[in-house]
Amino acid sequence: MNDESSGAESKAVPPLCPICRLRPQTEQYRPFCSKRCADIDLHRWLGGVYAIPGKPEEEEDETPASPDDAGGGSR
Ligand SMILES: [Zn+2]
Repeated sequence: MNDESSGAESKAVPPLCPICRLRPQTEQYRPFCSKRCADIDLHRWLGGVYAIPGKPEEEEDETPASPDDAGGGSR
């Protein structure tokens, strides 16, 4: 039997885009609705690599030279 399941789910409503949750996903960018949402998801992934919680970047505190300490003595 050659029973190809075609069109069986064609009438089913496609799931909504997980990013904007407003528009249904498209075949081209699924599971997103558009390239934009796909990009957003990608950025979330990439961004997550840098935004690791609990690992703050070490910031060097350079003490600014105070001009008040240079010309002292004027009365
Ligand atoms: Zn979307």
